Amino acid sequence: MLTASIPIVHRHASHAHIHPRTVLTAFAVTLLAAGAELAGSWSGRSLFLVADAVHLIAHLGIFGVLLIPTVRWHERGEDMATIVVLTVVFMIAIGIMAASIRHMVGTSDVPPDPGFMLLSLLGLGANMTTAYLFKKPAETRWSFRAALAHELSDGAITLAGLAGALAIKLFAWYWVDPSLSLVIGFWLGAWSARLLGRRIRVGRGVWTVDENH
Ligand SMILES: [Zn+2]
Repeated sequence: MLTASIPIVHRHASHAHIHPRTVLTAFAVTLLAAGAELAGSWSGRSLFLVADAVHLIAHLGIFGVLLIPTVRWHERGEDMATIVVLTVVFMIAIGIMAASIRHMVGTSDVPPDPGFMLLSLLGLGANMTTAYLFKKPAETRWSFRAALAHELSDGAITLAGLAGALAIKLFAWYWVDPSLSLVIGFWLGAWSARLLGRRIRVGRGVWTVDENH
C-alpha cells in the first residue's frame, strides 16, 4: 500500500525541466580546469596544454547556449546565439591549428615539460563530470546529447595527450606536443563545422528535433 504512492512520473514535462544548476556546475568545473591548465602551460611550455585549455574555454561558450531556457529554443535569438558560438569555436580551432603548424615548422626554443601535460587530467575530470551531469538531459535534448557525445570524445584526446607526454619524456619527441594541439584544433574545427553544416541543412529546428524521436 505504501509503495503505491512513490512513483511520481511527469514524463511530458521532463524536457522543460533541465535545471540551470546542472549546466552551471559543468561551467564552474570546466572553468577551474581551464584555468589550472593555462597556468600550468605557462611553466610547462606545452602547446598541447594551451590548446586543451582553450578547448575547455570553447566548452564554456557551448554551456552558455545550453543555459538558454529550453522552452524558448524555437526563437530566432537563441538559434543565432548557437550559430555565433559555433562560429567562434570554429575560428578558435583554426587559430589552434595555425599555432600548431607554426610550432611544427619553426625552431623550438624551449622544449615542453611533459610533467605539466598531466594537468590535462583536470580537463578530463571536468569533461567526465560534464558527461555525467548531461546524461539525464541528453535523454530528451538533442543539444545536450551532442554535448555529451563531444565530452566523451574529448576523453580520447586526453588519453592521446598522456601517451604523447610519455613519448616526450622517454624519447624527447618534442614534435609530439604541437602535433597533439593540431589534433585538438582539427577535432574542434570538424565538430563545429559539422554542427554548422547540420544547421544549414536542417534549419532552425535542428536543435530540438529529438523530441519527435
Ligand atoms: Zn571538447
